[in-house]
Amino acid sequence: DAYLGAIDAANETFNAYVAVTHDKAREMAKASDERLAAGKGGALEGIPLGIKDLFATEGVHTQAASHVLDGFKPRYESTVTANLWADGAVMLGKLNMDEFAMGSSNETSYYGPVKNPWRAKGSNVDLVPGGSSGGSAAAVSAFLCAGATATDTGGSIRQPAAFTGTVGIKPTYGRCSRWGTVAFASSLDQAGPITRDVRDAAIMLKSMASVDAKDTTSVDRPVPDYETALGQSVKGMKIGIPKEYRVDGMPEEIEALWQKGIAWLKDAGAEIVDISLPHTKYALPAYYIVAPAEASSNLARYDGVRYGLRVPGKDIIDMYEKTRAAGFGREVKRRIMIGTYVLSAGYYDAYYVQAQKVRTLIKKDFEDVFHAGVDAILTPATPSAAFGIADQDMAADPVKMYLNDIFTVTVNMAGLPGIAVPAGLDGKGLPLGLQLIGRPFEEETLFRASH
Ligand code: GLN
Repeated sequence: DAYLGAIDAANETFNAYVAVTHDKAREMAKASDERLAAGKGGALEGIPLGIKDLFATEGVHTQAASHVLDGFKPRYESTVTANLWADGAVMLGKLNMDEFAMGSSNETSYYGPVKNPWRAKGSNVDLVPGGSSGGSAAAVSAFLCAGATATDTGGSIRQPAAFTGTVGIKPTYGRCSRWGTVAFASSLDQAGPITRDVRDAAIMLKSMASVDAKDTTSVDRPVPDYETALGQSVKGMKIGIPKEYRVDGMPEEIEALWQKGIAWLKDAGAEIVDISLPHTKYALPAYYIVAPAEASSNLARYDGVRYGLRVPGKDIIDMYEKTRAAGFGREVKRRIMIGTYVLSAGYYDAYYVQAQKVRTLIKKDFEDVFHAGVDAILTPATPSAAFGIADQDMAADPVKMYLNDIFTVTVNMAGLPGIAVPAGLDGKGLPLGLQLIGRPFEEETLFRASH
């Protein structure tokens, strides 16, 4: 009731929730109370969570913040949310996001932008919460849920976490099942939690992660009790500092933040080593070929027949075209066009195949460093703090918006785990985040070091 009251009072301001499931929340909370009274109860018993609109929730609004999925209420539950409910969690509602998780500012949502609960000192300018999991990050930051599910294809958990002073972890590709999560780029998409601290992230990820026969890319490995990694020393841990992440024009305060993080780990007994990830500069361009290519294929299913919106036409082709023209927003259309282009005959080898080769090299860069004994890599999470809603520069040039992902996309391209943790405030009083990148399936190392 406290959380529902807070949402009812504040959601008009933040626009973090696209659907609030009052009745379902109370029903689930009541069932939870009964389990507790009977001496039962799971790891998340009674914990009220917000769910990104990308996760299918049975009988509940699921639209990936898109007009094309108007009215869609799935008859099935995503594996990740089913795992959370099995552990006793309670659903408060569905969270705003960039349409189909394409964006870095939550401004591509059909439901309009989300406001970051943070503002610069003495300023009344509204800031973005980051994206695509902007609703998740804003809701956690503004205490409109105890934790939230999110997804990360190129940075969509870590960047919004950094912009809102929250914690976000993208686990290793395959750690969480993608079944029932609306697909953006299937070889990059991973679910993970956004929470207020590292402990909550450890608890929530344990519940979300599982092998699943319905997703053949989910991996059959036991899920560790991540919480036991907290409080363990980082003494002797080898932390790599990649020189290629010192990008041109990086603001001084981001460099200072990075140095502060290095000093913290060093003081705690970690060994700091300079490393090189030579193909880093190709990651962003390769990502913006691979991700749209997969998206153009995944989004072919929204045809006005199977889901959501249908705009009538004079024949079936006309209906498809009218539905897709009306149903998708500008950024989604841009991705579909880029993706279709790079997959088309004549361009496939030059763009798509080339990007896949680059991807292999990026992955190999990380493997080399980890084989040389590095346990985790420390970088800034983002190249700046949160920026203003309707930023003129970014609106005029989509590539400027894409640069937000410069420190995060490499991790998705290589399938590695990455965590963003709040690391202090900038000169204007806005939160900044640091990122730790780990070996495949070594989320425990990230929890231990970031905690
Ligand atoms: N900002 C990136 C994009 O727009 C990443 C999005 C994501 O991780 N879902 O593709």
